[in-house]
Amino acid sequence: MKLNKFESEVVNKIKIEKSKSGSHSPSIFTLASIIPELDITIDGCFLSNPYATNLFLDFMQSELIETGKMRDFLEYYPSQNRFIAEIIGNTINIPGDHIFVGNGAIEIIQAVLHRFISGKLLVTIPTFSSYYEFANDLTEVTYYNLKKENGYVLDVDDYISYVKKTKIDSIVLINPNNPDGNYITFSDIQKIVGELSYLKNIIIDESFIHFAYEDEDLKVMSAAKLIHQYENLIVIKSMSKDFGIAGIRSGYSIMSAFRVNQLLSNGYLWNSSGLSEYFFNLYAREDFQNLYNDVRRRYISETKIFINDLKQLEGIKVYGSKSNFVLFELLNNISAEVFHSKLLITHGIYSRLCYDKIGLEGEFIRIASRGFGDNAQILTTIKRLLNE
Ligand SMILES: *Cc1c(COP(=O)(O)O)cnc(C)c1O
Repeated sequence: MKLNKFESEVVNKIKIEKSKSGSHSPSIFTLASIIPELDITIDGCFLSNPYATNLFLDFMQSELIETGKMRDFLEYYPSQNRFIAEIIGNTINIPGDHIFVGNGAIEIIQAVLHRFISGKLLVTIPTFSSYYEFANDLTEVTYYNLKKENGYVLDVDDYISYVKKTKIDSIVLINPNNPDGNYITFSDIQKIVGELSYLKNIIIDESFIHFAYEDEDLKVMSAAKLIHQYENLIVIKSMSKDFGIAGIRSGYSIMSAFRVNQLLSNGYLWNSSGLSEYFFNLYAREDFQNLYNDVRRRYISETKIFINDLKQLEGIKVYGSKSNFVLFELLNNISAEVFHSKLLITHGIYSRLCYDKIGLEGEFIRIASRGFGDNAQILTTIKRLLNE
């Protein structure tokens, strides 16, 4: 598999752009503005539920735009952090004083790492890079490698004994993990948190938890309720992926009231936008929740089909996902870079090249489920490229 001249030229332009955006891929807006000749039809790099975005847009259209109320959300200050925290608290059944609202989860990760973490922080890799990149000067980041031969699944007992015998102060787990999508069951999370209750901090990032399920009911099994037992627990939740609203920057975290006070005592007063406050008000409403549950279920069932279909293809190894994306490895000496470029430049499908993910060695690509029609197109294209 080789790149043609046009593909090679575009690849060089993308490389220059990528070098400017650190460990995160340039957004399709950025790509499209720098490289106008690119025609991206499917964004499989960003990991969101497109049906949830449609739902939010429908509400916004009828309640804000058609009524003219949008003006209020733009003209006036949004509510303060504690006020929005109460709304979220009522919705998820956690006292509002245990909730810290962020301008996206990324702001919370930054706040937590800067304010509460010092000493040895154990990061399980491969994973979301901000947890090691944003650590402060008092922190020594150390790594626990998920094993390729185990399909990057966390071996819970090995992990617990490793943490106990190594002098670790704090740990981070992303559940389901990004980029492999492996999910730690609630009972395993309970075991980890229980066995490691002596640690200074246990951070659990549940940004993808709505895509995971343990049985046919598809019930969301958040670690949030363990907050009452464990003072050291911090649960972080982005709304960007499951609700498909990365643009409005919404996220929250659950932690001890003492810690929330520490963060709010010198900052973060109006860090939510008006639209994010509007979203959290919807999140609290039963009519919205019911409709959201429908789109969540529909998306999960379509994603399952997508992942199973990908697993049937020869020439790639698919790593088990309980999230809305798949990590696959190209076999037969196919370069992930060439594959990624062909997908993007010739077929308009943007995927995530994973060379920069530490702890992941090999020719890996991550691609999101984008709903029925787009998934079918992604599947056909991957199949065609593998047969070339
Ligand atoms: C995307 C992502 C975030 C950041 O989410 P925002 O709310 O958009 O800032 C945090 N954690 C993980 C694991 C993510 O994948």
